[in-house]
Amino acid sequence: MDRGAQSAWGDPAPTDAARFGVVNLLDFDRDALTAFCERLGEKPFRAVQVFRWIHQRGADDFAQMTDLARSLRESLPQHGHIVAPPVLSEQGSADGTTKWLFDVGGGDAVESVFIPEADRGTLCVSSQAGCAVNCRFCSTGHQGFSRNLSTAEIVGQLWFAEHHLRRSLDLPAGQRAIDNVVMMGMGEPLQNYGALLPALRTMLDDHGYGLSRRRVTVSTSGVVPMIHRLRQDCPVALAVSLHAPDDALRDQLVPLNKKYPLGELLDACVHYLGAAPRDFITFEYCMLDGVNDAPEQARALVRLVRGRVACKVNLIPFNPFPQSGLKRSPRERVAAFADVLQQAGIVTTIRRTRGDDIAAACGQLAGEVQDRTRVAERRSRGTIVLAVEKGARA
Ligand code: SF4
Repeated sequence: MDRGAQSAWGDPAPTDAARFGVVNLLDFDRDALTAFCERLGEKPFRAVQVFRWIHQRGADDFAQMTDLARSLRESLPQHGHIVAPPVLSEQGSADGTTKWLFDVGGGDAVESVFIPEADRGTLCVSSQAGCAVNCRFCSTGHQGFSRNLSTAEIVGQLWFAEHHLRRSLDLPAGQRAIDNVVMMGMGEPLQNYGALLPALRTMLDDHGYGLSRRRVTVSTSGVVPMIHRLRQDCPVALAVSLHAPDDALRDQLVPLNKKYPLGELLDACVHYLGAAPRDFITFEYCMLDGVNDAPEQARALVRLVRGRVACKVNLIPFNPFPQSGLKRSPRERVAAFADVLQQAGIVTTIRRTRGDDIAAACGQLAGEVQDRTRVAERRSRGTIVLAVEKGARA
């Protein structure tokens, strides 16, 4: 488990404990907050009150929690605080998308994106500073990996965005700004599982954000053992970054495929569906000109998934960035690819690009990450070895 992921009383997120001598209550799901309150000699219902103040009302000061006994309000600051990562910048797109850059310390910053739509508000949340998976078409992957985020840093993105938007949009009391969360920002969430799990539980908790399991999506590049763990612990909607119809190509685009090839990945998806809140897996497929976008590759994709795993395919126009050496597939080629899938009875969507003008579109999130794995340097020397491949299989 990640160091920053510990959330039980007595084993707090070490960064905050070390820096401030107190724990960050954003690190706690409700069970952990209950344990924290019990250590202070308080009844479990106090944890519910505090949890609601923090997540439903956006409180960051115990003095605001007027239904707590004054003695508790006065003693809580000695033991805990409520601190989201500071916002370094906010950028608004012409299409209404908003991107925030959060400072997570040590020279690292991560990004979150709010995408308003007619029927919902979606927040795309980051789980790591950088990413070790190093997908070829991904700006985050090109930066290398710095560290896992703590639960507080993951939940803090939602906490800040929800309450900031409620204020800035002047929403009526009780109306949510965000009712859909996708773990599709920077990082591979299933490689930060220890911190992810309490964050997901807080999102789903009726005393927290009260999101439905269908409206929280974990997107993974295919960390098979952790797909099984997620099924067992907290089965939310699952999206899988597929991007290729065969192992040879996927090995190049998503190097994690060498560890967990397509056969194993699809088996894990089928198993996941037994507990999933939706009756399909979403396969993300980034359309790369001349790489994975030929009609024959669409037919290979049909042969791969049809009759094997219930799925929806989401075709994503590639968002080019300078170092990738890749190009976006022409619109007609994307349409032809979609047509092959649809003719075969596979529900297929083409993602509308949002936030292009502020580099907030899919795969463009880069933050500012100190590349402690020196991925970029090793790539330029042609000697890249994936950090993730060194990890033991769970
Ligand atoms: S696509 Fe996701 S898993 Fe792949 S490098 Fe980017 S952030 Fe990491």
